[in-house]
Amino acid sequence: MSSTQPPPHPARQRWGRLAIGLTGGIGSGKSTVAKLFAQRGASIIDTDSIAHALTAPGGAAISSIASEFGEEFIQADGALNRPRMREKVFADAAQKQRLEAILHPMIGLHCVQQAQQASGKYLIFDVPLLTESRHWQQNVERILVVDCPQELQISRVIARSNLSENQVRAIIANQASRERRLALADDVIDNQGRPEQLEVKINHLHDLYLKLL
Ligand code: ADP
Repeated sequence: MSSTQPPPHPARQRWGRLAIGLTGGIGSGKSTVAKLFAQRGASIIDTDSIAHALTAPGGAAISSIASEFGEEFIQADGALNRPRMREKVFADAAQKQRLEAILHPMIGLHCVQQAQQASGKYLIFDVPLLTESRHWQQNVERILVVDCPQELQISRVIARSNLSENQVRAIIANQASRERRLALADDVIDNQGRPEQLEVKINHLHDLYLKLL
């Protein structure tokens, strides 16, 4: 009998270990889930905070954004003027692509650096827009979706921020639908229960991921 092993997943070669893509709609509990995995020894790589750092005062993306879009998109403190940029790219796919052409390669580079320095048994990439990104879907071995009903997303976000219900609904409408996210998932965490129930689910998945190492 041949003992030929199937070739490793391309993402395993790229990152050098098991890499999970974590996503979920706003307020689903994605950040809470990431923290719980970190407590169990996974290394979390947060693409949103990388993007924020790149566009903070002195961030590595600032000069490229200024030359591509103009100095008026940079605030006096040297940070990206987010409201202004949001307005420019919100309904204009071509402008959005111009911005992403600057940010995505830089985010990718930081992910590689963080992965090289990570000491966790496996990596969890926290990617809010994973459902919209074929690139990310191909660069992780499994996709983990945190899910809860929309009304619960709304009440959680209102409780933790000063956004109005309509603002939260607009953000949700602008994100991938719950159905599209779930269709991509290898693993789903149903987070409509209590925090203790969430911990039990994380323990099960952590055990599964350890088996896949
Ligand atoms: P996301 O990162 O998906 O936007 P968060 O993890 O920040 O969501 O969670 C949104 C809010 O809901 C936070 O205030 C968080 O503490 C709370 N939360 C998350 N999961 C639960 C849960 N199972 N029960 C009660 N509150 C929760």
